[in-house]
Amino acid sequence: MAKIISGKDVAEKILTTNIKPKVDDLKLKGVIPTLVVILVGDVQASASYVRQKEKFAAKAGIKSEVRKFSETVPEQEVLDEIIKINKDSDLHGIIVQLPLPDHISVTKILNSIDPSKDVDGFTPTNVGKLFLGEETLVSCTPKGIMLLLESVNTDLKGKNVTVIGRSNIVGKPVSILCQQKHATVTMCHSRTKDLTAKLSDADVIIVAVGVPKFIHGDQIPMGSIVIDVGIHNVDGKLCGDVDFESAQNKVSAITPVPGGVGPMTVCALIENTVIAAERLSNKN
Ligand code: NAP
Repeated sequence: MAKIISGKDVAEKILTTNIKPKVDDLKLKGVIPTLVVILVGDVQASASYVRQKEKFAAKAGIKSEVRKFSETVPEQEVLDEIIKINKDSDLHGIIVQLPLPDHISVTKILNSIDPSKDVDGFTPTNVGKLFLGEETLVSCTPKGIMLLLESVNTDLKGKNVTVIGRSNIVGKPVSILCQQKHATVTMCHSRTKDLTAKLSDADVIIVAVGVPKFIHGDQIPMGSIVIDVGIHNVDGKLCGDVDFESAQNKVSAITPVPGGVGPMTVCALIENTVIAAERLSNKN
């Protein structure tokens, strides 16, 4: 019987054991960890993610603020706001909810965030540090995936990990994190030939493709662990990049959708905000 790795439960545990005690310590020193979310335009999905972040932040006892801009806001106005937040010592974390409207350069916006407040881990400085194996703010979904693997006591040393998808926010960083844990990583993408063959000796499969039910049980080796990053609404029902029904008969453990990677991304974001607050308060 496959173990269902509940991101909801793991996130709750991390909240109680790691995040809250740190928040309490910071509050004793007069520091309230504070996250600022920049939201541009009226994207339904973004608004829903922002609500999840606000809910988890409240549970953790940290402050979160949303700064909303209209769809047509000039790029410079958003940049000016980020520069203001960078300078404000009462604000510890900044995230810019993506996607942004076409007239705003994501690169320019991300480059303007102070890396010490970049709790999404998207700035070139923090991506570079991750690549070099230096201490940094690790981007949230990859960090959440690693915490999920830890929660089922997966020692990645010498294991084969196949990552499907090479995005900057999931596939690439998670493959680096797995290599740092001494796994042998195979990276797959849309030009990969014979994907099923690349899965055949995988101990762990991480799927971040963005196609509903893309991977089926018959492609998955018996006893592997599957982390499903995808999230889709198909005919009013949520599903992932993995066909859960057929996969669960093959795997030793699998994340569900919803309730798997999603809650861990939010949890990692809040933990990063607390880490940023700790580091910034030690500097001041
Ligand atoms: P993305 O930027 O669209 O990247 C998708 C990756 O999948 C690309 O590298 C692409 O290859 C690869 N791909 C596409 N079709 C393929 C195929 N037929 N065979 C093999 N590889 C293929 O996606 P993303 O941002 O990483 O997100 C992936 C999914 O995870 C989405 O459903 C997203 O909503 C979800 N997501 C969830 C969370 C969460 O917290 N739960 C967080 C982030 C993302 P190429 O590079 O060759 O184009």
